[in-house]
Amino acid sequence: MQVFETPSEMAAWARAVRDRGETIAFVPTMGYLHEGHLSLMREARERGQHLVASIFVNPLQFGANEDLDTYPRDAAGDAAKCRDVGVDVLFTPTKASLYPDGFQTTVQPGPIAGPLCGASRPGHFEGVCTIVLKLFNLVRPNVGVFGRKDYQQLAVLRRMARDFDVDVDVLGMPIVRESDGVAMSSRNARLGADQRTQAQVLHRALDLAESLVAAGERGVEAIVAAAAVLIREQPLADIDYVELVDADDLSTICDLEAPAVLALAVKFGSVRLIDNRVLTP
Ligand code: AMP
Repeated sequence: MQVFETPSEMAAWARAVRDRGETIAFVPTMGYLHEGHLSLMREARERGQHLVASIFVNPLQFGANEDLDTYPRDAAGDAAKCRDVGVDVLFTPTKASLYPDGFQTTVQPGPIAGPLCGASRPGHFEGVCTIVLKLFNLVRPNVGVFGRKDYQQLAVLRRMARDFDVDVDVLGMPIVRESDGVAMSSRNARLGADQRTQAQVLHRALDLAESLVAAGERGVEAIVAAAAVLIREQPLADIDYVELVDADDLSTICDLEAPAVLALAVKFGSVRLIDNRVLTP
């Protein structure tokens, strides 16, 4: 496995690979890797001749009062996991190399970045789009592999790739969960024992919503209310949002007539967890 720390090394390698007509599959991450990340890498390994992964905790996508400084990091452990899973190139740029003095241009996503995390984390998706477009330009992947755990991020990035004519397939992969149903997240490491137990309520709320839909419920308000009531039973859970929106463009709906995504963001102390499920009538 080669490790590149500078954008120029990364770009030179990618240019040579693409000039030879070979393909690149790419998995961007913020590190502290878990099985969710590794599942994307295993899929990406099958999707291109070369597998590139990146680790960069992107300051541009964190708000002023968010957890940039406490975001968990483990550079050595991450590198070992990448090597084991068959990563060919690990790209670990510094903040100064990606955002040097004078950097000033950002990508402004449209309405798809408006609701859900876009509403509760102003500027977040602008930061996400900007870093992913930069990474796409440096890594030049044929395929970018992302997790559906970050459902809105995937939708926003697909839109960006289309709108900016980026020649990359944006692939979404299933959510990987712990044995108790909690979606894997680097942030789970920051939960206390009681918070970690109560975090199970996110997937239980999704299960409940799914069973209501299976039983014939089609009212968005009723489904959202049932999920929220269940979550509020956990004393440490502080709801950021519970919303059921159109699965394609994330627009508001009244009744479940087409696939919709139930998206949850819940805080446990300073740790904010997200989860989601597509509900199909
Ligand atoms: P992050 O390091 O949190 O920025 O995530 C990097 C990539 O891994 C994103 O595409 C995430 O959607 C994906 N990812 C994170 N957690 C999971 C999970 N539990 N299952 C599947 N993909 C995930």
